[in-house]
Amino acid sequence: MSDTTKTDPSLFILPAEDMRALGYRAIDMLVEHVTGLADRPVVSHRGAPPDAGAIGQPPPGAGRDAMAVLEEAGWDILGHISHIDHPRFFAYVPGANNYMSALGALLAAGFNVFAGVEPGNEGPTRVERIAIDWLRQMVGLPPGAGGLFTSGGSMANLTGLAVARHRRLGDRLERAVIYCSDQIHSSVERGARTLGFAPEQICKIAADAACRLTPAALADQIAQDRAAGRIPFALAASAGTTSTGTADPLDALADLCAREGLWLHVDAAFGGPGVLSRQGKKLLAGLERADSLSLDPHKWLFQSIDCGCVLVRQEAWLAETFRIVPDYMKDSHHDAATNYRDWSVETTRGFRALKLWLSVQTFGMDAFRAAVQRGVDLAEQAEQMLRADPDWRVMLPASLGVITFRYHRDGLSEKTLDAVTQTAITRLVDSGYAFVSSTMVGGRKVMRLCTINPRTTEADVAQTLARLKDHAREAAEGLTAD
Ligand SMILES: *Cc1c(COP(=O)(O)O)cnc(C)c1O
Repeated sequence: MSDTTKTDPSLFILPAEDMRALGYRAIDMLVEHVTGLADRPVVSHRGAPPDAGAIGQPPPGAGRDAMAVLEEAGWDILGHISHIDHPRFFAYVPGANNYMSALGALLAAGFNVFAGVEPGNEGPTRVERIAIDWLRQMVGLPPGAGGLFTSGGSMANLTGLAVARHRRLGDRLERAVIYCSDQIHSSVERGARTLGFAPEQICKIAADAACRLTPAALADQIAQDRAAGRIPFALAASAGTTSTGTADPLDALADLCAREGLWLHVDAAFGGPGVLSRQGKKLLAGLERADSLSLDPHKWLFQSIDCGCVLVRQEAWLAETFRIVPDYMKDSHHDAATNYRDWSVETTRGFRALKLWLSVQTFGMDAFRAAVQRGVDLAEQAEQMLRADPDWRVMLPASLGVITFRYHRDGLSEKTLDAVTQTAITRLVDSGYAFVSSTMVGGRKVMRLCTINPRTTEADVAQTLARLKDHAREAAEGLTAD
């Protein structure tokens, strides 16, 4: 590598040939990662922290060789991560991103695109409008609905609820109540709290045995709250819970919201793309009736983190909620322009849309439909494997690529089985073979697979279940021997 000290480092310039060599090396690291992933452990270094000696020093006064620094980043830092893109990462929500999306992130960062104002940034603004419109059509919202990309589902939920607060309450919170089930993602509650709602204004209703919010339970609660002088104003419903993949009955809840004058926010961050599958299309009927809706293309649309999205039924509601034009921004302010900095709490924002645009152009929507369908089907196949084996109990039917289950053995108490579940999962994760997480169903700790990585095979699922069962059997024997 040529001597970078020849140029003044305080200009942050590298010679062109060095930039190329560094870029090629970084891409080589990435391609090696992608192509060799299935043969590597799901968690590098078994979760051990990186060597502090290598990376934990005070910042150097004089810079170091760029290639050496890049190698350290590749091995010492990126060698210590969970591979959420691994075909046997079944925990939480897998992040099976794609290479074109990663290149989109690279280009957007390299050109340092400011995707906050349209004047002067017509290219990125146009692409974001187009990509958002694809998502609008995917979920079935009418023309006139619109939105923007966000850092993730959490920011999307916050943004949707802020629009609800503005439209329905004129930003006055007093006595207002927002409803959700006890299965709702924590970010909904956090978003509501951040917006200033007190804990007692966020009403969590117990879900039924299938983990869904029933319209009857909601109607009861609304009636009680009205009688007590409170102001029911919004429902945050789930189009696919992270925990079990079940969805609230959106159509019936939309009817109830319409009758009661409630805003309908739908958290479709995980499950939204499920509408691309046969099963999901039925399950999520009513999704298109949302007033606001969150999506997470960095989950089930295979985008690199970060890439979330919020949609609202009338695009104009976003600027109406968020726009404040200070003196120093008047030059770039035109009422007719799509200035995304006025549509949410983010002013400076990156060009996230490029990731999705590049991916869809490269692979085609048919590939996305097939990949989502495959993830849904794979969880159903896992369910069949579990039902065929007397050592397993299915807790809830497979839904939107999630299956929950539990080890079974006659004579073991529920409490012991909770412990068996935890131990088996820990041992499997420690082995590096697969990553599985637990959740609670009906008050019991259960195992859970989320099978939405399109590169996961049926054999990956079968092997993971076999190993999980071995660990569970050992754990059960260990516990009963005590
Ligand atoms: C992941 C998730 C969120 C939060 O999204 P982030 O992208 O992690 O901020 C919200 N709701 C559901 C259902 C999710 O699965």
